[in-house]
Amino acid sequence: MPSKKILLPSILVLIFFLSCNNVEQEERIMTVNGAIFSSDLGVTLIHEHVLVDWIGADSTGYHRWDRTEVLERVLPFFIEVAGRGVDTIGEFTPAYLGRDPYILSELSRRTGINILTNTGFYGAVDNRFMPAYAYDETSAEIAERWILEFKEGIDGSEVRPGFLKISVAEHTGLSSLHQKIVEAAAITHLETGMTIFSHTIGDEPARGQVELLGQMGVDPSAWVWTHAQSGSLDANITLAGKGAWISLDNVMFDPARGEGQEGSIGWYVDRIISLRDAGHLDKVLISHDAGWYDVGEPNGGDFRGYTDIFDYLISELIDSGLSDEDIEQLLVKNPARVFSLRVKKGE
Ligand SMILES: [Zn+2]
Repeated sequence: MPSKKILLPSILVLIFFLSCNNVEQEERIMTVNGAIFSSDLGVTLIHEHVLVDWIGADSTGYHRWDRTEVLERVLPFFIEVAGRGVDTIGEFTPAYLGRDPYILSELSRRTGINILTNTGFYGAVDNRFMPAYAYDETSAEIAERWILEFKEGIDGSEVRPGFLKISVAEHTGLSSLHQKIVEAAAITHLETGMTIFSHTIGDEPARGQVELLGQMGVDPSAWVWTHAQSGSLDANITLAGKGAWISLDNVMFDPARGEGQEGSIGWYVDRIISLRDAGHLDKVLISHDAGWYDVGEPNGGDFRGYTDIFDYLISELIDSGLSDEDIEQLLVKNPARVFSLRVKKGE
């Protein structure tokens, strides 16, 4: 039997190695100011906007807005939502639509809120926000650009994207251009582990993307049906059953939307409860898809704050039978999993 003198140090060494191993296994999330552990993400609004420029890919650029003015306008809304307990915000404005890593980095530093930004191209709205070179390049060449942003930062900044944001045409099959964008997202995911969030209106393009990703060797759990509220409950359940994420965005209290009417708080409650009853609460994400400083409008125009989930939705979800753990699942656990950098290969 080993003496106590040897046994105690051996046990300490063993505990040390076991804990190191745990740290290594814990997943990382890339914020605009560097990587954090997924356990540090906290209460998260997964899909919001700071700034949007609708002028189109051929005319947009950093010259279009004044960073100081934008920061001054947006700061109070970030401070307001920090007061509701929010630790992290996913900022979903894509490249060529007003993504500005310098503003996001500064906003995060000033408020202490973690912010994530994205790489990818936005194909919806007749490709108005796609750069001209996207038409000529192959999916591999496009992926190379996105992977470079992940490895080296966006536009000369040190800000790296934490996820992929793409989008495809509404209510239709994938055009060859949009197939290429989905393929580029698959290649980028397999190289970087970034989750693919895709602005997808309607069931048909949602099913089409999950199928194409499968052909590219990517598991459905690497894909988020962004704006899944636009799809049928059936399709939400079917795709969640395959492992895809269901993102119910644009939660908004609007007295003009009657109770139960599509887009009302009651409608979101029903959809979330239905997904819970189908066993998929661990695949549901919620957001306001709110903001934003609208470039071209005086002082950014009307800005919608990020508080309705806390002020209206959560209490109704609890009244409808969700527990505190369920709310934590929606606002903390699911965001931590969906934003974790991990390659998810298909079968
Ligand atoms: Zn959005």
